Amino acid sequence: MKMEIDKRFRNSETGGYFEHCLVCHENVLENEKDYFIEKIIRRIKSLNLTEVLFEYAICMDCAQDMRKKISQHSMIQMETYFNQNARLNERNSIDLKTHQTTENCLFTGKPIPNCDEFSLHAHCEGKQMIVSIFPYAVSDDAMDAMSEILSAETMDELDRFKKTHFNGPPELFELLSPKRLLPF
Ligand SMILES: [Zn+2]
Repeated sequence: MKMEIDKRFRNSETGGYFEHCLVCHENVLENEKDYFIEKIIRRIKSLNLTEVLFEYAICMDCAQDMRKKISQHSMIQMETYFNQNARLNERNSIDLKTHQTTENCLFTGKPIPNCDEFSLHAHCEGKQMIVSIFPYAVSDDAMDAMSEILSAETMDELDRFKKTHFNGPPELFELLSPKRLLPF
């Protein structure tokens, strides 16, 4: 099943589609290859609003290259965490066409409105999202738990990814923890 990429996964500045892969800069709308959209968002409770810390599209090839740079030990840890914690049964019972799949953390079930930080993930093709385990949201709690079981080497790699590719304002660079860039 596919559905049009909606507001959750559009460019938050322009409202338009993401057009280019963050890493190789290929046009993801035109080249008909699968790609992913990732957003890392923080909640400013005192102002009752959310702010995007980092958002991008990444093509399948670049996402796979990124995974190859992660140590095998960490990949196994991540897969184990995924298999043990992903709440797939609960998702089967909800209407995937609604926005419900990004209202709770895929792993902990924590309501996203209760998260100080969270990430959103979509698997796309052109202007469509592929509806499968995607799209989903990940809570701060789940990202914290997963970062604790990964190697220091992997965390360094995520830090390198952030330093190389972060394209937002400098004040947000400081706020963005590399552990929010886990490749789910
Ligand atoms: Zn790419």
